[in-house]
Amino acid sequence: MRELISNLKEKILSEIKDSDKNTLEEIRIKYLGKKGEFTSILRNMANVSKEERPKIGELINQTKTEIENKINDKIEFFNKKELEKRIKQETIDVTINKKFIDMGHRHPLNQTMEELENFFISMGFSIIDGPEIETVENNFDKLNSPMDHPSREMSDTFYIDKDLLLRTHTSPVQIRTMLSTKPPIKMVSAGRTFRFDEVDDTHSPMFHQIEGLVVDENINMSNLIETLNTFIKEFFGEDMQTRYRPHYFPFTEPSAEVDVSCFNCKGKGCKVCNGTGWSMELLGCGMVHPNVLEACGIDSKKYSGFAFGMGIDRITMVKHKINNIRLLYDNDKRFLEQF
Ligand SMILES: [Zn+2]
Repeated sequence: MRELISNLKEKILSEIKDSDKNTLEEIRIKYLGKKGEFTSILRNMANVSKEERPKIGELINQTKTEIENKINDKIEFFNKKELEKRIKQETIDVTINKKFIDMGHRHPLNQTMEELENFFISMGFSIIDGPEIETVENNFDKLNSPMDHPSREMSDTFYIDKDLLLRTHTSPVQIRTMLSTKPPIKMVSAGRTFRFDEVDDTHSPMFHQIEGLVVDENINMSNLIETLNTFIKEFFGEDMQTRYRPHYFPFTEPSAEVDVSCFNCKGKGCKVCNGTGWSMELLGCGMVHPNVLEACGIDSKKYSGFAFGMGIDRITMVKHKINNIRLLYDNDKRFLEQF
């Protein structure tokens, strides 16, 4: 019996030695399984003397465990080899040159627009969007624009038909807001605007504006000046001076144009400002005309308001010392990559 076990053991061990990973499992089933050869040996136990039986039983168990371990060791050996092979294949060489990826970024106009909006949000204004195709009513009529005002001319405005046009300013968003919201109102709106302009260094048929509107009881000119002065100092620098010059807009009364210290010389006088020390006409502003309030159903005896507007293109150009508006629309990467 001992010899039988010993021979079987030798046979199995030599099979294990020559096996690959797939045959190992077959060997396990063939010899150690329920119908395996080791189990059938037990049938011969009847021939073993009573005293010997426990010892033979123990020997069988020991041998089975030994073979089991051998199989497991070999499986582990194969697994380890596979893993090593995989690690070798999947290793990333971090020193290899990566392909250069050309990342885009926001356009300088969008950067300026976002900075302006963020500033006015911090001052408690809400941001309102409006459509670029507007009604003549919202773009001109409700803004108190005289029927013979030159801006209404076909030569100045892109008309779609007699009632619709591409908005010439962002002011119609103020009209829409006043028609849909009761005072107090405190909003800004930024976006694209369109005028029939020939392209030159400072003009483009499409440009960008941001407009603000405040309507409440007891709003007066000093609220307007305080708001705009805070804006200019916060946005362009503490040392900026402002100058309000009387002007005419149909939708505000009184109206003013705002000049600020020259961005280049800060007021000393230089070539950029023609020696005046001022950057001219950065903003337009004024007290909302009572006709505009009434056209929107707001009681002009109870409420008053101020409005202001400025060109985002102009501010971007001044801020980055860009001398030609075409650069903002040419999409030349050599230019845009500088921002
Ligand atoms: Zn200057």
